[in-house]
Amino acid sequence: MSYQGKQSQLTSPVQYLKGIGPKRAAALKAAGLQTVRDLLYYFPRNYLDLSRVEKVNNLRRVADADQYVTVIGTVRTFDVVGRHPKQRFVVILGDESGTVQLVFFKSLQYFKKSFTVGDTLAVSGRVSIFQNRPQFVHPSIDWLKTNDDDEGETDFVGFLHTGGIIPRYPSSEVLQKVNLDTRGFRRIVKTALDQFLESVEEFFPENILQRHKFPSLREALQQVHFPESYERLAEAQCRLKFDELFFFELLLALRRKIIKVESPGIAFAVESKLARGLVDSLSFKLTKAQVRVIKEIAEDMRSNKPMNRLLQGDVGSGKTIVALTAMLIAIENGYQVALMAPTEILAEQHFRTLKQFIGDLPVNLRLLIGGQREKLRTDILEDVRRGTAHIAVGTHALIQEHVEFAKLGFIVIDEQHRFGVAQRLALREKGSLPQKQTIHPDVLIMTATPIPRTLSLTLYGDLDISVIDEMPLHRKQIKTMLFYESQRKKIVAFLREELAKGRQAYIVYPLVEESEKLDLKAATESYRYLQEEVFPEIRMGLIHGRMSSSEKDAVMEAFKNKQIHILVSTTVIEVGIDIPNATCMVIEHAERFGLSQLHQLRGRVGRSVEQSYCILVAPDWMARLRPANLRPPKDLSPQGDFGGQARLTHHSFHNTHHPTDGDEELRERHKAEVRLKTLLQTTDGFKISEVDLQLRGPGDFFGTRQSGFPELRIADLLTDGDILGLARQEAFGVIQQDPHLRFPDHERLRQHLHEQYRQYLPFLHAI
Ligand code: ADP
Ligand code: MG
Repeated sequence: MSYQGKQSQLTSPVQYLKGIGPKRAAALKAAGLQTVRDLLYYFPRNYLDLSRVEKVNNLRRVADADQYVTVIGTVRTFDVVGRHPKQRFVVILGDESGTVQLVFFKSLQYFKKSFTVGDTLAVSGRVSIFQNRPQFVHPSIDWLKTNDDDEGETDFVGFLHTGGIIPRYPSSEVLQKVNLDTRGFRRIVKTALDQFLESVEEFFPENILQRHKFPSLREALQQVHFPESYERLAEAQCRLKFDELFFFELLLALRRKIIKVESPGIAFAVESKLARGLVDSLSFKLTKAQVRVIKEIAEDMRSNKPMNRLLQGDVGSGKTIVALTAMLIAIENGYQVALMAPTEILAEQHFRTLKQFIGDLPVNLRLLIGGQREKLRTDILEDVRRGTAHIAVGTHALIQEHVEFAKLGFIVIDEQHRFGVAQRLALREKGSLPQKQTIHPDVLIMTATPIPRTLSLTLYGDLDISVIDEMPLHRKQIKTMLFYESQRKKIVAFLREELAKGRQAYIVYPLVEESEKLDLKAATESYRYLQEEVFPEIRMGLIHGRMSSSEKDAVMEAFKNKQIHILVSTTVIEVGIDIPNATCMVIEHAERFGLSQLHQLRGRVGRSVEQSYCILVAPDWMARLRPANLRPPKDLSPQGDFGGQARLTHHSFHNTHHPTDGDEELRERHKAEVRLKTLLQTTDGFKISEVDLQLRGPGDFFGTRQSGFPELRIADLLTDGDILGLARQEAFGVIQQDPHLRFPDHERLRQHLHEQYRQYLPFLHAI
């Protein structure tokens, strides 16, 4: 059968498998498992080592040692013993060395019907001693068949839950209702392997398999579910992780090739009077890192290949000025620039900042956002269309709504901490380049939250990367402190002291979409209370997202001019605002903020030579902050064979497992603790984003859940950096040799890509 023919068998609905009727199929479908392939790729969450087989007379020795063992024997007798409530069902199992009791306290009726004298069983569990006899309580059991082979040796078959390295699968309440707990999954996955493993076809060329000593795909799938040994399991996992990461990187390699090789770009002349004028007008000297990064960008601009570059730099490192320098180069070459921010508030802030920097330079800067008067909007659009607007600042709507540019040559995308690939894919889905221009503009993406390297290789793996790894001089490390709500007096006293020195302060309240009204009310009321009852002698201001932009401007202006000394705000000020004399940042309900948000907020201070402070205010229940255990506990509930119920996340099978219900709250609290601890411990944006990633898991961190970038089921970006490196090397190597995957050797790779990753192919052409 052809590759495709065989592969198509794997897309058979799960119902084709023995043991799966309509009910189970429906439950599986609801959990996202529709085809045989889905089941084969439904990986165990972890494994239980039940491979140690003991003779019965050895059990005493391992009793209570917290070790799992397996014994194989035959059923001698069984009976219900004792009286309610101590009634139990006891099976006596024997091998040639002795006997052991199997004890069941629950489901007596069920177990009574399950055994027949003479059955051959494999039994796994922990051994305990009761009344001086070894026993297993509710062990795992397999009913075995015996085959006598040619040499008269007895061969046992039928191990599934015992006698080896046993897979444990995630499940859910819905799945458990149709008996698909971890045991149920073992059965159907085994059936799927037995019936369909033959149809699994290798897609890697021989040389890749050999180079990394990978097992075949069939072997890997078999071993990941039912490993013969930990070595084989490790090999299988490695190969399957590689598979996922390889295709991820293959997409990136293809995209890079399309941009770099196939699209003509603009060769800008990079000597620019405007840029020079800007740098000369600054009251400070650029840092070495800024200068280096400007050079890197200019080099790209000079080349006739389109630039696709990521500018990373911690909050406060001075990215804006770098981006503006590049924009001015483009403008001097007669091109227009689009600056896109994720939200309108951010767009407005960029607009203000740029306006200040531009000063008297002959640059026409326009802001295009919703809610502008029709006349103004028409005027701006016209300005952009005619080419007289040099820089258009807006949200992604600039591109999505097909705003017409006369000559767009440079795009700056500010992502702040909203990450990458997925967003860019979303952009692509909604629109494309504003006009049918065949020349690809240069693209510079700015991100304020540094990203661990493994992440940049996946998330931004198609981009060149520039990092501003140096803060402007004379900045003092911000001091971060934690206070509980009951310690408000201390906070007030502290603020008074700082204000007395002539400094200014921010007090920030959380505001999230789900509870926007309540949050806004809380912030407004606190503002009134503070002004009237706590700081009557101090001039305070309030700013929030619901105010008109002229109102906001007025407040910001007053704060800047020191007419306001304390600015109360919702998270509008998270980014972009830059007032060096403000040295105190008080974050109310700090436990409600995300880690990178907290980092961004803290970055609003520490912008002068004075000492700055960040004060985190947390509820009293957090008063006993445990030492930061930077990884949240993986499992808060006992799971699997010998514990409580196995669980499955509702919509994803990602290896980060979120517990449900009651555990959720515990987990959230713990995460809040870790966030605050981390912030107290470090100001290093890289470290902070690493912890953030650990807490949120890659799906959340990237925002991929919404936009559906390939989810990693087995690879873990936090720990599989080495495999990622290899996968990247191979994927980029393949594309370099054979950009269209036309080599016969790559035929199956191409097919697999088009079958399994079809939905991601549009991303190849996204901005
Ligand atoms: P980012 O966008 O990277 O968070 P900004 O571009 O807002 O940082 O810069 C933060 C502040 O530092 C701004 O006030 C900016 O004018 C100032 N700044 C930028 N570069 C330097 C420098 N080399 N020396 C001193 N201050 C600088
Ligand atoms: Mg160029």
